Amino acid sequence: MSSGAPRGQGQAVRLSRGASLSDFADRINANPGSLVQEMFNLGEMVTATQSCSDETLLLLGEHLGFDVQIVSPEDEDRALLAQFNIDLDAEIDADRLVTRPPVVTVMGHVDHGKTKLLDAIRKTNMVAGEAGGITQHIGAYQVRVPHDGSERALTFIDTPGHEAFTAMRARGAQVTDIVVLVVAADDGVMPQTIEALNHAKAADVPIVVAVNKVDKPEANPDKVRQQLTEYGLVAEEYGGETMFVNVAAKPGIGIDELLEAILLTADASLELTAPIDGPAQGVAVEAHLDKGRGAVATVLVQKGTLRAGDSIVAGGAHGRVRAMLDENGNQVAEAGPARPVMVLGLTAVPSAGDTFLAAADDRTVRQIAEQRQARRRAASFANSRGRATLETLMEQIKEGEKTSLNLILKGDVSGSVEALEDALFKLDIPEEVQLKILDRGVGAITESNVMLASASAEAATIIGFNVRASNKVREIADREGVEIRYYTVIYQAIEEIDAALKGLLKPEYEEVELGSAEIRDVFRSSKIGNISGCIVRSGVIRRNAKARLLRDGAVVADNLTISSLKRFKDDATEVREGFECGLTLGNYNNVQVGDIIETFEMREKTRA
Ligand code: GDP
Repeated sequence: MSSGAPRGQGQAVRLSRGASLSDFADRINANPGSLVQEMFNLGEMVTATQSCSDETLLLLGEHLGFDVQIVSPEDEDRALLAQFNIDLDAEIDADRLVTRPPVVTVMGHVDHGKTKLLDAIRKTNMVAGEAGGITQHIGAYQVRVPHDGSERALTFIDTPGHEAFTAMRARGAQVTDIVVLVVAADDGVMPQTIEALNHAKAADVPIVVAVNKVDKPEANPDKVRQQLTEYGLVAEEYGGETMFVNVAAKPGIGIDELLEAILLTADASLELTAPIDGPAQGVAVEAHLDKGRGAVATVLVQKGTLRAGDSIVAGGAHGRVRAMLDENGNQVAEAGPARPVMVLGLTAVPSAGDTFLAAADDRTVRQIAEQRQARRRAASFANSRGRATLETLMEQIKEGEKTSLNLILKGDVSGSVEALEDALFKLDIPEEVQLKILDRGVGAITESNVMLASASAEAATIIGFNVRASNKVREIADREGVEIRYYTVIYQAIEEIDAALKGLLKPEYEEVELGSAEIRDVFRSSKIGNISGCIVRSGVIRRNAKARLLRDGAVVADNLTISSLKRFKDDATEVREGFECGLTLGNYNNVQVGDIIETFEMREKTRA
């Protein structure tokens, strides 16, 4: 059957990752409907506006005779910046380069002393802290130490654990120059030691080993050296190239020697230079929303100098630097390469690992931020194929592959999480499947849950029982390709997991989120009950849509319906993101300011 879609003769068509058929149609001057028809003929049901996988776009391109080129987010960002005459990879004249401090990340097994070590290092350099305000955790800090007759600075990323490291790498940000691998001498090499080692190797970053807790009577630092030789880290004293330093973070022993070793390793294996002039560029290492100060981001300058008053864009957030604070709470006027500073003045919260840059004016940074936001929304669905989902698990089982089902359980109360876990382990699990609970906890699904799910060797599915993920976390999950499944009834969760384990999972209807709104005000009416004055936070709110009510990330009421919807005084069928509306939830009246109303519809699931 012909659909009337145009045929190409090998012309190149550039599409961004996650483009829809209607985007495709735009590029080739076709009617989107004709492409839907073509896909249907090829055996796939795809709607015109749905974001497509790379495979789908390539398949359709090949079928129609177009050479589809899928543009990665990084390429696209480069192209976007080029529109504003910004080239991040531009060659820098050697005479503009100055030596910069190394940026160090501390990694290692849990409880081996990463946090204590970061504290101890920070204490070696209290001068600034004593002079100024209160030392505060901003996600990174710098210390200065005497070395070879001069003073040298070192920058430490102050988020121990591998999450920050992997999150940044996942976004293509290479922040770390050197990894300090902490291994407790009383415990030796453990699974996360190896994980850390692998991360560092994958990033091609030199390692200095801090053999910690040597103050303990049962410490055996030589055993650590010996164990690590098996992983290719041979100590200098054994003829290898890696510096091992015995330390005891708690009493503060060996810290100076460790810093010395880091500097020696940096000087031996790295060329650490950066231009100090020009507009600043770098990476956001940590960011959060502060009640009083708004969006607060710690950025690490990598090139150029950042100054108060600069217009900057970090990921999809932009703004003008209102103030910069260092790790001691002191105001700083400017920050050069490898200097971490906390920046106030952004209009939104960037993600850890987002790159930032200073640009000529407010308009430029706003336009860059807006275009990035639009693109992120479009791309956020692109990952939905190739995920480790319960359905792919089922496929693997069918094909007789050995596989594991990794889960992260989150619930509203600890009792429900325990009940869920107990029930899961009572399931009759087929031999070829291994069920692993990577983590469990009470409360909303967090960014760190998602990062754990995506960072583990086999991706994990997150089960939310009566709890949800915020829009930001959901976006990250989409981007990382992590599946989150929500349940409000335990047996339903168990049933689905059981079915997946037995290879019987039938995808039926899936919940498709339409939008969410935040309650800003509650009006009491004796006639119609409580009316919620809302602002639509994402998507659209539609009259008659199914809804649930969330308070502090937990579901407080389910099975609700948007029974009336008004924009000002007029009835509305739908209200879009950013607009205010008034609505009622049938005869459900227990609404409070700050609650989130989430609306969704049930759609039949298309199977991959
Ligand atoms: P992390 O999980 O790697 O961040 O480990 P922490 O820094 O939280 O340390 C875990 C535990 O080991 C804490 O109870 C510390 O007090 C203890 N600890 C850390 N360093 C030392 C050390 O050098 N000597 C001794 N005896 N205990 C230490």
